[in-house]
Amino acid sequence: MTDGQTLFAVFVLLYLIECLRLAPSAAWMAAGAEKSRWAVLRPWSRLQIASGSPLLLSALPPHLAHTFGLPWLFVPELEALRVRLTDSQYVSIAWDKLAPQAEESTLHLDAATRLRLNSPVQAQLWAQRLIDWRELTPEQRRSAFLKHAHATLAPQAAAKTATRAAERTKSLRLLANILFVWCFGVISVIYHRFGDGFIVLAAASVLLLLQFIQSWLFLRATRGMQLGIPHRRWRALGIAFMPQLALRAADAVCLVGDDQLPHPLAWRGLIKDDIWLESARRFWREARYTPGWSQNEALSVEAEALQAFFRRENIAATKYDPPSASKLPVCPRCSAEFQINITTCTSCGGVELRSPAAWCAAGSARNSV
Ligand SMILES: [Zn+2]
Repeated sequence: MTDGQTLFAVFVLLYLIECLRLAPSAAWMAAGAEKSRWAVLRPWSRLQIASGSPLLLSALPPHLAHTFGLPWLFVPELEALRVRLTDSQYVSIAWDKLAPQAEESTLHLDAATRLRLNSPVQAQLWAQRLIDWRELTPEQRRSAFLKHAHATLAPQAAAKTATRAAERTKSLRLLANILFVWCFGVISVIYHRFGDGFIVLAAASVLLLLQFIQSWLFLRATRGMQLGIPHRRWRALGIAFMPQLALRAADAVCLVGDDQLPHPLAWRGLIKDDIWLESARRFWREARYTPGWSQNEALSVEAEALQAFFRRENIAATKYDPPSASKLPVCPRCSAEFQINITTCTSCGGVELRSPAAWCAAGSARNSV
């Protein structure tokens, strides 16, 4: 590799690192601009770093605004607090063993369990909230959870947060597109064509000028946000002199700590309908058909919160809990089919199977409620 190519490779690497965020392993992120439907990004939850997982923001132009969503990580049950670690991993911590403590963005729950949250503010908030929950009666915990769930499932508020992030960062993202083309396109071509020389220096000066403008735009966009953006002026200085920071200047503005992150299902209307519906079905199955579920079981508190939300949004039960087309008994959680004489799904921890007839009956009963 020539010096120029090495420099280019190092620069690409620096840029990609700048696009990485350490997020809660169960976090969701929506990326989009003002008018389009937003795309969903997820962290690589198989990779656990500091009790969280890395998430790659949308890196190629057009540069997009980003906003976080978070499923309910903490669900109070009768004897224990159920904690969602990743999409598929949960732990239950007995109430008398629960000792929440925040350390930066990490929340320690007991001697063994810790969890990364989006920000130190979030970790503090949840440490305090869980301490409060611990002192309550089961009934009070249930209503405290339902209140929290209701607040996080507000589609209008979630859409407003997203569009506000997009509007606030519009000029930063526009200039980032120009910077991207200039950095990775124009300068590379000029260098390749002319080698070291005055013209490359001139192109680099233009880059520096663009970065100064970006720095000024950043200061303008974050005026009055000193509390949410730590070291704001230092960051502005970095944007002025480091291209990778200038390219990603909008991220810090979009992802400024919000104390109430929406549940991903609150993005109804913001993300594509089919993706939303698929997520709604999955969240419902996980909340409703918990391990050991049987047909006589009452709704779990999580399922109750989701059902209330679906009713508010006028979504029929057949949409989020569609009947199976199979002639065989089916596991309502994982949709696996079984032979007639089997009654529970062992891979879902003993969820009672549904025969096609029972499913239809349950479906019509649900609809008539
Ligand atoms: Zn199953």
